[in-house]
Amino acid sequence: MKKRLAIFIALLLPLGLLAQDTTSNMGYRDYTTAVLWQQHSGEYRALAFQAFNFARISLLERLKTVGKDKKYCVVVDVDETVLDNSPFQGYEINHGKTFDSKDWNQWTSKGIADTVPGALSFLKFAAAHGVETFYLTNRDTSEMAGTLYNLKTLGFPNADQAHMLLKTNTSDKEPRRQAILEQYHILLLCGDNLSDFSNVFYRSGKNTIEQVNALQAEFGTHFIVLPNPMYGDWEKQFYKDSKPTEAVKAAERLEGLKTY
Ligand SMILES: [Mg+2]
Repeated sequence: MKKRLAIFIALLLPLGLLAQDTTSNMGYRDYTTAVLWQQHSGEYRALAFQAFNFARISLLERLKTVGKDKKYCVVVDVDETVLDNSPFQGYEINHGKTFDSKDWNQWTSKGIADTVPGALSFLKFAAAHGVETFYLTNRDTSEMAGTLYNLKTLGFPNADQAHMLLKTNTSDKEPRRQAILEQYHILLLCGDNLSDFSNVFYRSGKNTIEQVNALQAEFGTHFIVLPNPMYGDWEKQFYKDSKPTEAVKAAERLEGLKTY
């Protein structure tokens, strides 16, 4: 009897370990639905068109009111604002990962990302109204060539080094926004992450939800928000450590769920 029990436990143990292992190491699959939604849903495209349709209306309104003492520009983020990186995210899932910087650099160096729907025609519309575009992105300076090649190939206006503000020493975009403001009126900012608009959202001591509520009139008028279900600063609230493992992150995401 004892022997049978021992065999029974011996058989169950690996199954239990396997179940635990499967749960902890497959966090990358948490992103599958988000990537599929961005790649295949009409709703994603519709939201992107809606954002850039609002941008056109608001740009024309801003042109009526802003002074003529400086040149005009719009400031756009790159990833998930004008370029769609969902094929990279799909590649990572297929290779059992969430984000690998080596894979990312390989992807951006190819310069083959498609446009976010509506982005190109909006920026051409802005250019036709005498409004320049600045690309303010936290892509690294080493990614300049691939990024410019990608934007140029697709026909984006102002796809040159002077209009490309990449990350140098900080991911904080505020100093780069201030540098643009020295010579330009920024008519609109477009982004998929609230830090693309202002530092009131994700800096320490800020309550992002309260700040969004307080600034709700800015969305669609000065701040044009694109949908990005795949990644963003919003995720960081779930992770207690600064460098958690993928398994810990997967478990902490579950803890963040609202339920009843
Ligand atoms: Mg982005």
